[in-house]
Amino acid sequence: MRIDLHAHSNASDGTDSPAELVAAAVAAGLDVVALTDHDTVAGHAEAAEALSGTGLTLVPGAELSCHTDGVSLHLLAYLFDPAEPAFAAERELVRTDRFRRARLIVERCRELGAPIDWAQVERIAGRGSVGRPHIASALVEAGVVPTVSDAFTAEWLANGGRADVRKHETDPVTAVRLVRAAGGVPVFAHPGAAKRGDTVSDEVIAELAAAGLAALEVDHMDHDEPTRARLRGLAAELGLLTTGSSDYHGARKTVRLGEHTTDPAVYEALVAQATGARPLTG
Ligand code: AMP
Ligand code: ZN
Ligand code: FE
Ligand code: FE
Repeated sequence: MRIDLHAHSNASDGTDSPAELVAAAVAAGLDVVALTDHDTVAGHAEAAEALSGTGLTLVPGAELSCHTDGVSLHLLAYLFDPAEPAFAAERELVRTDRFRRARLIVERCRELGAPIDWAQVERIAGRGSVGRPHIASALVEAGVVPTVSDAFTAEWLANGGRADVRKHETDPVTAVRLVRAAGGVPVFAHPGAAKRGDTVSDEVIAELAAAGLAALEVDHMDHDEPTRARLRGLAAELGLLTTGSSDYHGARKTVRLGEHTTDPAVYEALVAQATGARPLTG
């Protein structure tokens, strides 16, 4: 069983449509893929429809933007009821604020001399939950930086960078409770991804564990070996499961689907905790 529990479609900042993502998962030899777009479930229906005849299992999910003590972090949520009103309202709040903030980031970029504009970012983002990677693609198109990841520096879009503007992000303890109340299973995404900015303390992770966190995403491209070892130790201490996933973004990142995977027993344990939705098999 090859299980990848973190992938983005163009419903957020990936470049594959949900149907293309399903096809890519089959081509990568995956048995299970989770669709975890930022703050949205907009890709679920198309992905589910594309499953037919593939034998692939889809875990519907999302990746919620959170913030505490000046640190931004991401919470993966699996198998929640997408219609549960409190969590749905929170996702909507984050998505709406993404538009306000993206316009301001584009303004800052222009003031800093980058020849990009809002129409261009709208075209790149399409129907997707708009974010910095779309603006990074605009900066690449304009010849300001060579690659998307080169836009995530202090000069441009990195956390606290010259053109960075904050968006509304949910308190993570609140987020863990919202996910559980919607029948879902919350997993801390890339908790040690230090190159993206500050990371939260072990004390915060302990608080999230007490609030109902199920697992830490340990095997992730942004974690080096010492970080993985430290996170495995912390998970064991706190009684948390550990997952591995690619965080695939199509052409917007270099990571391949299935580059990191989750142990089948861990996957079964996560599914057993969910009451909001079931995995779908084509
Ligand atoms: P946003 O959701 O708009 O705040 O943008 C955050 C997203 O930008 C993350 O989910 C990543 O996909 C991407 N990102 C953050 N830091 C980097 C980085 N250093 N290199 C490439 N992509 C990044
Ligand atoms: Zn992303
Ligand atoms: Fe993330
Ligand atoms: Fe992600």
